[in-house]
Amino acid sequence: MLRKFPRPIKRVVVKVGSSVIATYKLKPRTAHLRSIVGQICEAMRNDVEVILVSSGAIVLGLGELGLRTRPSDLASLQAIAAIGQTILMRIYTDFFKKNKSKCGQVLLTWDDFDNRVRYTNASNTFQAMLEKGIVPIVNENDTISTEEIKFGDNDKLSALVASSVRADLLLILSDVEGLYDTSSADKKIFEEVKEITQEIEEVASGTTKKIMSRGGMTAKLAAIKIATHAQVPCVIAHGEAKNVLARVLNGERVGTFFMEKEEKLLARKHWIFFGVKPKGILFVDEGAKNALLKGGRSLLLPGVVSWEGHFKKNDVVIVKDARHQEIARGISNYSISDLHQIEEKKGKPEVIHCDDLVLSER
Ligand code: GLU
Repeated sequence: MLRKFPRPIKRVVVKVGSSVIATYKLKPRTAHLRSIVGQICEAMRNDVEVILVSSGAIVLGLGELGLRTRPSDLASLQAIAAIGQTILMRIYTDFFKKNKSKCGQVLLTWDDFDNRVRYTNASNTFQAMLEKGIVPIVNENDTISTEEIKFGDNDKLSALVASSVRADLLLILSDVEGLYDTSSADKKIFEEVKEITQEIEEVASGTTKKIMSRGGMTAKLAAIKIATHAQVPCVIAHGEAKNVLARVLNGERVGTFFMEKEEKLLARKHWIFFGVKPKGILFVDEGAKNALLKGGRSLLLPGVVSWEGHFKKNDVVIVKDARHQEIARGISNYSISDLHQIEEKKGKPEVIHCDDLVLSER
């Protein structure tokens, strides 16, 4: 029986990891990349729009310089990414050309999602490229990404892109066949995951990180949560599986399928919760915590016990309880200096309005 997607797939984000792109000697896997580009062009001929999120800048840069390990300092890593990204794009451009198609490079940092205007600009650029039949090839802008504005891994980047362009599917191609069920004796993969529960997360945390993959399965699941909350279903499959893109699009049961959430998190709330790096923390008392957990309540100043960070008015902050457990995220109506000034807590000013608040239990 074929898989049923919630809607026909007209737009797909395909993420390819470094292990799919480079050999263990950190050289490009040319035949493989040719095949992936061929599959993308085939999908486009069948009226499916494709955005490719491709890693590989760092591994190809390392390979080009004859290095086998990542340098620990940021500037060297950025220089290496600069070298590798041009190699990567040259390969893609050549293969797309051979398929009589075009591609273009889009480099993003988390800042671009943090800022609503830039976020909209990026979405408009994707739209314009797709309308012209150009495949956007997205990567993190490693050459300028500092810790502050880093995504950390391209799984997350691909999920944010898929959410922002309202993709019908996110396909993560990796060097594993899917999510392995480590509890089964024959280590089969899960064919379908309805919900990322704690057990599923525990299964995933067993994966080790390698030079090729930044976050392993844990990072993939975190990314899948982002996408499924925007009602984008996801598939993790092996990048080398034959004709993988067409087969997944046809509904064949390759890899692990993660169903979209029944309830869609509104775009603005999705952005507050997943798209922005929080700038501070508000610690609240039990009363405020209980009120927030009931839902539909604003966070009022008397319930805020202390705060930390460097946030301005309208920045996203995390709300934590006395045991430092995260309970929500939201947009603060006050900067940290405002909070210092309104010491006497007269009245009950709203620190976070309920429309700007998203509970973390998800
Ligand atoms: N942006 C990095 C690169 O192109 C990869 C990050 C990742 O693999 O998640 O090398």
